[in-house]
Amino acid sequence: MKTELKSFQLPDEKGYFGPYGGSFVPPQLQGVLDEITQAYMEIKDDEQFLTELHALYKHYVGRPSPIFHARSLSEKMGGAQIYLKREDLNHTGAHKINHCLGQALLAKKMGKQTLIAETGAGQHGVALATAAALVGLKCDIYMGEVDIAKEKPNVIRMKILGARVISVTRGTKTLKDAVDEAFEAYLGDPITQFYAIGSVVGPHPFPMMVRDFQSIVGREARQQFREMTGSLPDNLVACVGGGSNAMGLFTAFLDDEEVLIYGVEPSGLSLREGEHAATLTLGKPGVLHGFKSYLLQDEKGNPLKVYSVASGLDYPGVGPQHSLLKDLERVTYVTAGDSEAIDAFFDLSRFEGIIPALESAHAVAFALKLAGKLEKDKTILVNLSGRGDKDIDYVAETYGKDYGVV
Ligand SMILES: *Cc1c(COP(=O)(O)O)cnc(C)c1O
Repeated sequence: MKTELKSFQLPDEKGYFGPYGGSFVPPQLQGVLDEITQAYMEIKDDEQFLTELHALYKHYVGRPSPIFHARSLSEKMGGAQIYLKREDLNHTGAHKINHCLGQALLAKKMGKQTLIAETGAGQHGVALATAAALVGLKCDIYMGEVDIAKEKPNVIRMKILGARVISVTRGTKTLKDAVDEAFEAYLGDPITQFYAIGSVVGPHPFPMMVRDFQSIVGREARQQFREMTGSLPDNLVACVGGGSNAMGLFTAFLDDEEVLIYGVEPSGLSLREGEHAATLTLGKPGVLHGFKSYLLQDEKGNPLKVYSVASGLDYPGVGPQHSLLKDLERVTYVTAGDSEAIDAFFDLSRFEGIIPALESAHAVAFALKLAGKLEKDKTILVNLSGRGDKDIDYVAETYGKDYGVV
């Protein structure tokens, strides 16, 4: 095994995972990021910090999340045995709470007063507003005007939780503009505010820090799976937007050569430009939002329009460690499209009684295909990153007729 794969030895001191990652930010921000890095390195192995964080994981989030053997679905496919790591059962319904709590605790320790972030569909905003309420920090969430109109329940949730939701009215009034405005607000006062990033993306130390906070998923899964079956899973599968739930599951297994690992990107409507968000599959290395990684970009380096039925997956970049894992061929990156994800959404609902998030349904879709090709004694562990309650209205309206819902 190449030594660069040793899970926790990356990134290097400058935040590089091989050629990817780093920190491409204005000089006035670099000083603040260095402070965050230093504060994080001090607490990361601190017993008191870890005890506090793990007590919250247990008593607040409800960890460890169970692993469930999806027997009916496995039987239907007639091949490998499919298991689900149930991150959908966490408080707030997805894996995001894991890194939001970690960042909120760190911000509190650093004496910050306000957590800020952008949000698209509102999932990161809700998880962060939750963590802010719990640890006693203010919370400002920047959200495009268009998304605010589309995602009403999440906007109301954030407000009930005591967060301010700032409507972004510039440009396309969606996620990209919300990122820009949140970033400007942060530059205006990086001393009392803490910018909590929603995935393993952004400048150093965020890809490392968010990965570390999420790595609880894989550490639990490794032990639980061994207890259940007597060995490690033969295959891991997770969906990849920015890549945090995937890194969360993968990290504990990177050094186990016998475990094959798959990251699933959204191929949306097709692999034509503007109709997908398959960054690692079709992108090229470049710099966006302060870090270097594979990107979907035009010749001038501007991000391309991206699309997926799962709004949590439609990002033109991807976490830098995924870019390295692709180049090293340690992880195989594959795609699943809208219609496959919708099929998997209904399959999991109807065969197992579990309604998955549309993001997670992409991982399930690929796992079903893979299972069909493998022998019955092989195993596949899927990270079920979130629950589908947030998606049911959209699914019923858009696909309900085809599946006998309306
Ligand atoms: C946000 C989200 C994702 C995508 O983010 P990653 O950083 O790629 O994990 C996946 N699943 C769910 C349920 C989400 O809310």
